[in-house]
Amino acid sequence: MSEKRKYKKRFCKYCESKVEFMDYKDAGALRFSLSERYKIMPRRLTGNCKKHQDMITIVIKRARAAALVPYTVTRKTVVSAPFENLR
Ligand SMILES: [Zn+2]
Repeated sequence: MSEKRKYKKRFCKYCESKVEFMDYKDAGALRFSLSERYKIMPRRLTGNCKKHQDMITIVIKRARAAALVPYTVTRKTVVSAPFENLR
């Protein structure tokens, strides 16, 4: 039994808020699943279900192509609140 977990409870945030469709322009919805370096968080950390994780991956890739989310972040551009400038 492993009691220590970084993210304590596993539940899908998107199922909880009944998200059926995700818009790539909605950066606020993506923030749950992006790390501070704009990487897509793996499902084992976020606890997202398969359905929503697939949606997120597509939406984030689309957002990257639309230059709403950067592909990579260098050390200089890492900020404490990365989503402030996305709004
Ligand atoms: Zn879900």
